[in-house]
Amino acid sequence: MSEQKPVRHILSLSGGKDSTALAIYMRDRVENMEYIFHDTGKELPDTLDYIEKLEAYLGQRVVRTTTRESFDDVLRTKGGMLPSGKRRWCTELLKLKPFEMYIGDEPCVNYVGIRADEDRVGYISHKPNIKPVFPFRDDGIDYAGVVRILEDAGLGLPPYTEWGRTRSGCFFCFYQQKIEWVRLKQHHPELFEEAKAYEKPNRVNGKVFNWTDESLETIEAPERMAQIEDNWERAKERRRARQHKRPLVAVLGGLEIEESPRDGCMICQL
Ligand code: SF4
Repeated sequence: MSEQKPVRHILSLSGGKDSTALAIYMRDRVENMEYIFHDTGKELPDTLDYIEKLEAYLGQRVVRTTTRESFDDVLRTKGGMLPSGKRRWCTELLKLKPFEMYIGDEPCVNYVGIRADEDRVGYISHKPNIKPVFPFRDDGIDYAGVVRILEDAGLGLPPYTEWGRTRSGCFFCFYQQKIEWVRLKQHHPELFEEAKAYEKPNRVNGKVFNWTDESLETIEAPERMAQIEDNWERAKERRRARQHKRPLVAVLGGLEIEESPRDGCMICQL
């Protein structure tokens, strides 16, 4: 009779608030949890600091599953074609592949930080030996609950939220909003420059790929930055006005509306 392999328990961190809160929540609930983080080498320094703080809280190392092939290596094999929503090779090669390689073929329970107030499933590995579970959804933990867990543990929200970035993942992630590019320019000008340097004619056909629908050179022009900030303020006002119309039960229940739009890939941003 073949020996049954023990089931591994794995929690994959993105450096975002939900997976971090889940790590805190599960710390005393599951023995032998393995915490992993897929570092693309292009993460924000703020994210790396946050992961280190979490390690201190957990009293356990978070395993970095970084692949030998860097973002720049893969980009070369793609002829300089930057990833985009339609060509999302980065998620597959720099996040999902290392995740599946780390797990191998052993049976594993994978803990995913989708919250109770989120209406999505969206798990992206389909390997049969990986069983996803959703403790926050099962235990009714919503956005306000996640914020509470992070505050009680002394970590608070990820540090990049202080300067207005809403997502973890690579500093040049093409999912970021225009306002986040402006904030990157203001708070990490060196990273903005690094991102801008990728927008150059590629070796194969001289075509220029941009991270967004306009070049970063256009975005950084002072008048364009001011316009983006102005549009953002107006949108915020409209959101605030909508919030005032929320039912009293939601206000009393502490239900908060998350500012971050949830597009993007879960493995990078949960
Ligand atoms: S964070 Fe964005 S750029 Fe980085 S791997 Fe994920 S989708 Fe790609």
